[in-house]
Amino acid sequence: ELYNKVLELKGNIRVFCRCRPLNSEEVAAGASMAIDFESAREGELTVFSNGIPRRTFKFDSVFSPQANQADVFEDTAAFATSVLDGYNVCIFAYGQTGTGKTFTMEGTKEARGVNYRTLEELFHIIKEREKLFRYEVSVSVLEVYNEQIRDLLVSSSQPTATLEIRQAVEGQHCVQGLVEARVNNVHEAWDVLQTGSTARTVGSTNANDHSSRSHCLHCVMVKGENLLNNECTRSRLWLVDLAGSERVAKTEVQGERLKETQSINRSLAALGDVIFSLANKSAHTPFRSTKFMLLGGDSKTLMFVQISPNESDLSETLCSLNFASRVR
Ligand code: ADP
Ligand code: MG
Repeated sequence: ELYNKVLELKGNIRVFCRCRPLNSEEVAAGASMAIDFESAREGELTVFSNGIPRRTFKFDSVFSPQANQADVFEDTAAFATSVLDGYNVCIFAYGQTGTGKTFTMEGTKEARGVNYRTLEELFHIIKEREKLFRYEVSVSVLEVYNEQIRDLLVSSSQPTATLEIRQAVEGQHCVQGLVEARVNNVHEAWDVLQTGSTARTVGSTNANDHSSRSHCLHCVMVKGENLLNNECTRSRLWLVDLAGSERVAKTEVQGERLKETQSINRSLAALGDVIFSLANKSAHTPFRSTKFMLLGGDSKTLMFVQISPNESDLSETLCSLNFASRVR
């Protein structure tokens, strides 16, 4: 099969680093690049400051500002096969606000991102396998904001009760009462995900602001039946656009904003625990209380660490790169 370049996993986690291009304002302001992709070897990048190379980081893949959405998906497509083979998969984007998390995951109509392409690949393989397997696919969309889970497929006119996580089977958690929409093709799936994304921004005064402070999670549930031996599989694919990882100085914010900031800092710290458990690096992870335990269980995990090339973002960039290299 085309994409069946079997994942040669060291453990269950892969880390891809993607750097956005300088934008027109940065170019106009004469911003300098802090990241160099040329001097490093394949899969590496070098961080510069004041024109001097400071540190080199290595990841499973590195995407320079010239890489397009198709280039990124080439290395991602194999995860769609994994889901249909019965593995749980978790793909998420981590990084400072404005570094391209939403661009990588959601993309645009002209430049489809990982979410769309993965669903398209999923239904493509389902079609290819139709003589041997029967699959049922459903999707959910939820948001985690201030440690509360909101179902984005429930229309906002209805009262939004706070959803709770409960343990389903061993190591797996689920959200009680979450809407799961059955979908038969990529268009239906995408429509549902878009409905969710739209619901996310309703009621927030500043959509960008809101999306940078909440986590958006898409769950694709797959039930498979092998028509030859009637063996069944159930697997989940999580597609996650995380809140911005930037540290907000606690002295700069008060009231609601402070609560929000603390909540984001807490959940991103807890995320590290969850990733380690996903990667099976520790048998028993002492979970801090976190909504990310939803992602728990034995999963193949892909993390995109998104960075800015701008030298003035260097300290956040180094934080993100350090976080990502610890995970790997
Ligand atoms: P985030 O979700 O991390 O806050 P966005 O995805 O909203 O960041 O990206 C910020 C801006 O940069 C958007 O206008 C987006 O289109 C642009 N952008 C991000 N990454 C790329 C890229 N690789 N190529 C072109 N434009 C990009
Ligand atoms: Mg975003």
